[in-house]
Amino acid sequence: MSKILPLSRSHEAQAAVTDPGSAPVPLIDLVDQYHSIRPEIQEAVHRVFERQTFVLGEEVENFEADMARYVDARYAIGCASGTDALLLSLMALGIGPGDEVITTPYSFFATASCIVRAGARPVFVDIDPVSYNLRPEAVEAAINSRTRAIIPVHLYGQTAEMDPIWRTAVNHHLPVIEDAAQAIGAGYNGRQAGVLGTMGCFSFFPTKNLGGAGDGGLITTDDRELANRLKRLRVHGDFGGYNHLEVGLNSRLDALQAAVLAVKLRYLDSWSEGRRENAVRYQAMISECGLDERLELPRELPCRHHVYNQYVVRVKEGLRDDVLASLKKQGIGCAIYYPRPLHMQECFSNLQYRAGQLPEAEKAAQETIALPIFAELREDRQARVVEGLRNAFAEIDARTILPMRRAA
Ligand SMILES: *Cc1c(COP(=O)(O)O)cnc(C)c1O
Repeated sequence: MSKILPLSRSHEAQAAVTDPGSAPVPLIDLVDQYHSIRPEIQEAVHRVFERQTFVLGEEVENFEADMARYVDARYAIGCASGTDALLLSLMALGIGPGDEVITTPYSFFATASCIVRAGARPVFVDIDPVSYNLRPEAVEAAINSRTRAIIPVHLYGQTAEMDPIWRTAVNHHLPVIEDAAQAIGAGYNGRQAGVLGTMGCFSFFPTKNLGGAGDGGLITTDDRELANRLKRLRVHGDFGGYNHLEVGLNSRLDALQAAVLAVKLRYLDSWSEGRRENAVRYQAMISECGLDERLELPRELPCRHHVYNQYVVRVKEGLRDDVLASLKKQGIGCAIYYPRPLHMQECFSNLQYRAGQLPEAEKAAQETIALPIFAELREDRQARVVEGLRNAFAEIDARTILPMRRAA
């Protein structure tokens, strides 16, 4: 639609443009966020161009120091993506062929692909149906003599149950790699995601809570030797002067990303607060119209600080796909994270998992929907999302209950 409307436009046309009652609601929209910090971002980009240092360098070192301070880790090592952060972590631990790594089947693909790329075998164990995170007892039960590491994911912005997982890991002398890609700023017993294990992996993919202007990632750790090895591994294993102790990756953080991320990090907590306020408001709006009978809303567990990278509801009665289709038709942004659990992915068929083996992960994949939650979402647009949900259930009921009554 053209931005310039004729002066003689009718009230109806005007309403169609500005009325939040009919305007589409995107799942995520970062334009308002950018506009709120535009001068600082432009200054940062300008500074990088004036210096003409684009890979690693001072901008990256400064941002690494900011991140180390933010999560309270001793070391922070930037790299090219969250995916590479995970792979580099496994490489730094020397994990490879013959090794097993325990993780969740209900996550983004990279959580498991890094294990395969390191040459090891992913061992999937089931999740908790409320938090969608790894069940500590299931982790414990999967440990054997080949187990070399555990990768819990802090899914949707809420940390996994780290105390029991850490205890298990310590008892078995296993390192823990936190996949904190969705959980920057999330807390557990007052500590930040990223310092709850041996290493913490972050992603700066644009839709993460701290998003760059492209790909980026980072690893946090308190272990000096691991930090040094990670720094070497991200530059081809070079320990200086083109001397290679081992074969690494080319996986560096760009100065442009670091400069942009350093600006955005200063606002991260206020954006996370905005997401949390939206979550509270959804809870109130959804309960108020009685839809909490038909939807299971996300729950912040005790001692957690949830940062809602996604706001994921569970649709009861096997109606998820109908609700999804109706929301889409009404112009309401929504998505399924994740429709196919990792143990059911074709590329992992050699691992020989069967449908039904990890029932909670499979059920979550069939029942959940993510709704818009970004900080700049306004109350009127949230109301529109909830109205969309009401319409969806009304439509479904009209289709299913009325014909049944007629038949009776
Ligand atoms: C986004 C994400 C990753 C991968 O991060 P990239 O920066 O996109 O490579 C890994 N794990 C989880 C859980 C993610 O959400």
